[in-house]
Amino acid sequence: MAATEKKTRQFRAEVRKVLHILTHSLYTNREIFLRELLSNASDALDKLRFYSNRGQTPINPDLPLEIRISVDKDNKTLTVADTGIGMTAEELSENLGTIAQSGSEKFLAELDSQSGDAATQDGDAESARPDAANIIGRFGIGFYAVFMVANKVEVTSRPAVGVSDQAGVWTSDGDGSYSVALSKAAEPVRGTSVKIYLKDDAVEFLEKFRLEAVIRKHSAFLPFPIYVDGNQVNTQPALWREPKFSVTKDQYNAFYKALAYDSKDPLDVLHLSVDAPVQFNALLYIPDTADDFFGMDRDHWGLDLYASRVLIQHHNKDLIPEYLAFLKGMADTEDLPLNISRETLQENAVLRKINQVLVKQVLGHLEKLAGDDAEKYNSFWRLHGKIFKLGYHDYPNRERIAGLLRFHSSTLPEPEALTSFDDYMGRAAEGQKTFWYVSAPNREAARLSPYMDIFRKKGIEVLYLFEPIDEFVMEGLGSYKEWNFKPVEKATDDILAAFADKDAEQQSVARLSEEDRTSFDALVARIKEILGDKVTEVRVSRRLADSPAVLVSPDGAMTSSMEKLFKVMHKDDSVPVKILEVNQDHPLLRNMLRIFKADKEDKSLSQIVQGLFDSTLLLDGYIKEPQSLANRSIALLEEAAGWYAEVRKF
Ligand code: ADP
Ligand code: MG
Repeated sequence: MAATEKKTRQFRAEVRKVLHILTHSLYTNREIFLRELLSNASDALDKLRFYSNRGQTPINPDLPLEIRISVDKDNKTLTVADTGIGMTAEELSENLGTIAQSGSEKFLAELDSQSGDAATQDGDAESARPDAANIIGRFGIGFYAVFMVANKVEVTSRPAVGVSDQAGVWTSDGDGSYSVALSKAAEPVRGTSVKIYLKDDAVEFLEKFRLEAVIRKHSAFLPFPIYVDGNQVNTQPALWREPKFSVTKDQYNAFYKALAYDSKDPLDVLHLSVDAPVQFNALLYIPDTADDFFGMDRDHWGLDLYASRVLIQHHNKDLIPEYLAFLKGMADTEDLPLNISRETLQENAVLRKINQVLVKQVLGHLEKLAGDDAEKYNSFWRLHGKIFKLGYHDYPNRERIAGLLRFHSSTLPEPEALTSFDDYMGRAAEGQKTFWYVSAPNREAARLSPYMDIFRKKGIEVLYLFEPIDEFVMEGLGSYKEWNFKPVEKATDDILAAFADKDAEQQSVARLSEEDRTSFDALVARIKEILGDKVTEVRVSRRLADSPAVLVSPDGAMTSSMEKLFKVMHKDDSVPVKILEVNQDHPLLRNMLRIFKADKEDKSLSQIVQGLFDSTLLLDGYIKEPQSLANRSIALLEEAAGWYAEVRKF
């Protein structure tokens, strides 16, 4: 834009919405506006230092890197000025108006979900709002928080690099529009000055003690001096560079909260000082809250990278693999040149080495935690297991990661209890070399799966997989300590035969006579005839105990849960044609045999076969025509009720 005259522009719709919420409904926790301004000032100073380190000379190179806050009580204004990188008039317009990124949308969505949570918890949606103000900085829209306390804001900025007469001034009263013009003022000589015209109910921020308290609370760890009326307020060191023994738990926690925009203490902290094969210090936190890495927080991970205490990059993703995305913190190395360009970071050998050391250290830490404090480890798992599982891709560390995986299981009495592979092995019978698993949406569905009958009967433990990715994890791992993984539905005939032989004595139902067995074979053929193309085959099952029938995929086919996943992916809504296995000891099948023996063509027999098939489809998760299914089942019930009335002589 040609910034010779003043131009007024409208904020985008999402920004207007954010502003509206900020100015109208957030009254608590307003003090965080200062944290946001100071964090922007600090970022701007970081950027300037970064450019200087790369050999560029800023204007007024002798000016110290600092932040100054001043108040004017008469005019009720508060000014936050930095000597950082600054913005041109175009950048002012871009950064503080037109480009709201997707941040505002994400913020609004988060706000919605928080209000929802609060409403269900205590019926008071407003109670979620203070936290909402607190998290605004996470979404790249922190600047707008200033409108919680301001009637009007004036941002004057002089870029540190390039043409120094390009200073601009951005003005807005926060309700719908902003304007940008060239600044005639001589100040700032470099960097950005944010002048806030305080609302009448926000004049508390003219008080020095109040400002200092807010800075100590939220911005104590910023790496540049902050002055309030000439006195430096922040004096905290870079915590990750301090010797471990000298840092208190409170310091660790306070640092975390400032870093992660979290109101909760972290679950755990890992403070490292490494000299070989690469020198670095790292401070890593495991949060006690989970980010949604499969949704909104997809790109919101990585560690802050420092070179000799100078911030090189926020959210660097080369320092840790994605499956450790839950970690928050920083790594600081002396083995990187200060003038490194961000573009060349990716292939950097130093980062690769740090990454490798961090992975080993974090895995070691988690192993120790799992051993020392299973309860805490399980909390970690419930929060971050979903992303950590992706570690099955990390081939060299596969075995260690497998050892850290946790699953629900058929033999654990508590629904929330978790087991490791090692614990499972400890409980298994002599000779077992397979981890059996079943995929299901939840515990109840897993328990009721017909494939589980034989496992339950034999007391063989089965791991419950509740997330689609779990099967990929099992397949990806291939084996663990020479045990393999198998879904229960893939229990082949020979395996099932071995199970069955073990307790052939304990048959609770009388075996079929030789003659009946022949009739049953004929019944099986008749069932196939009735179902026609809906099944590939009908056969007598070895795996069923309590269920009358089950659908089975042919050998070598993928499991039914994988199949469903693929069908969703390919928008395929056809019903797969499978093998129907029937339980010849089930009362339903025994009664069907009685009917069949009396009349092979009996009409209700085919109704029952249809109904039985419907229910197996239902259990397998496929129901295409609920209408006709309901009709069939009503017809059956009608008949059954008639017979019942007849038999009981009502
Ligand atoms: P974020 O800091 O997460 O990017 P903000 O809404 O706080 O989001 O700031 C938006 C952008 O405005 C920043 O990314 C930066 O480019 C610019 N900005 C804000 N304050 C300053 C400042 N004091 N100096 C230089 N640029 C700034
Ligand atoms: Mg910011």
